[in-house]
Amino acid sequence: MNINKNYQNIADSYLFSTVAKKVSEFSSKNPDKKIIRLGIGDVTLPLCKAVVSALKSACDEMGVKETFRGYGPEQGYEFLKTRLQDYYKSHNVDLELDEIFISDGAKSDLGNILDLFAVDNTVLVPDPVYPVYVDTNTMAGRKIVYIDANEQNDFLPLPDSSVKADIIYLCSPNNPTGAVYNKTQLKKWVDYANENHAVILFDSAYECFITDKELPRSIYEIEGAKTCAIEFCSLSKTAGFTGTRCGYTIVPKTLVFDGVSLNKMWLRRQTTKFNGVPYIIQRGAEAVFTPEGLEEIQENLNYYRENAKLISETLKKHNIWHIGGKHSPYIWLRCPNNMTSWEFFDYLLENVQVVGTPGAGFGKNGEGYFRLTSFGSRENTIEAVERLDKLFG
Ligand code: PLP
Repeated sequence: MNINKNYQNIADSYLFSTVAKKVSEFSSKNPDKKIIRLGIGDVTLPLCKAVVSALKSACDEMGVKETFRGYGPEQGYEFLKTRLQDYYKSHNVDLELDEIFISDGAKSDLGNILDLFAVDNTVLVPDPVYPVYVDTNTMAGRKIVYIDANEQNDFLPLPDSSVKADIIYLCSPNNPTGAVYNKTQLKKWVDYANENHAVILFDSAYECFITDKELPRSIYEIEGAKTCAIEFCSLSKTAGFTGTRCGYTIVPKTLVFDGVSLNKMWLRRQTTKFNGVPYIIQRGAEAVFTPEGLEEIQENLNYYRENAKLISETLKKHNIWHIGGKHSPYIWLRCPNNMTSWEFFDYLLENVQVVGTPGAGFGKNGEGYFRLTSFGSRENTIEAVERLDKLFG
């Protein structure tokens, strides 16, 4: 047996383990100091009432012979897909039910979709970015080229006609920078992909944070996207499903390459390798998109938005350059005094015991930058910004 040697080319995931190690070393030396974590990418507020109630009812159904369900449709139950169709419709996007595929989250599908593409495709990945795009393609042995996201382009790189790419990753609102593409910018990517016979893998995991109606929440708000883009989203950040697990992937039927429908290929892939998301979870997910659910999740999203505002205002007060936080839970700041990402991490930990995520962990262009998140509790966020205010003052 020969192993897949590509795994030896994946960089060890030092980022969060190094953060954890540094924090635990600091706490053991300073047990009396309270550490505040603003580095987490996980939600902290519980599931909303509408979801909990739907989950409980679905559990009851599963315990009764007449309503018990076994294997469901691999691509998801129609009751949930119909709700998603309406959700997209509310953003002016028309989808057919069989273009929607329910999954256990965006991360799985972002990895699994690669089954559809040949190994000799060139992959274009913005730097800095969510590390899963690079690692999943490295595992498969694909060639990766990077496009720079930096202050000059507002961390929103646009297509470069001299770069030839077959698979393009875009994440908007972006993790880690919080930058959001507008419609004109996304149109440039859509045109580039259509002209170059390329596919865009559009990660909209943070679309729910967008409040400006002019900013696209889905790539299908852009004309031409249905012939070049697959969209991945999930309820993780939308409705606190990080531990409950439910997401969705949109593969338009008009997505045809070499005469082959990617929608059909994905259906074949899913029905072969996936047995669907549990009925109970899909009922919980359905509740998110009811009028009550949508109202309740907005309360949670507003809570995180308010946290982001508190962080952003403090940075602004001290003239610390930053973006994000407005249509995103992430705030991306330039480390003051030309500190490196890790120097700034140590500086904050040692002086004010606030933990963030060093930008260097997301790619070379992340060096010198730092990610803070709004997913903490209000009390902790207030305490953290007070400490930062004192420190920078
Ligand atoms: N895409 C991005 C950009 C993310 O930041 C994350 C999670 O942090 C995911 C996808 C994964 O989401 P899920 O929980 O649905 O797998």
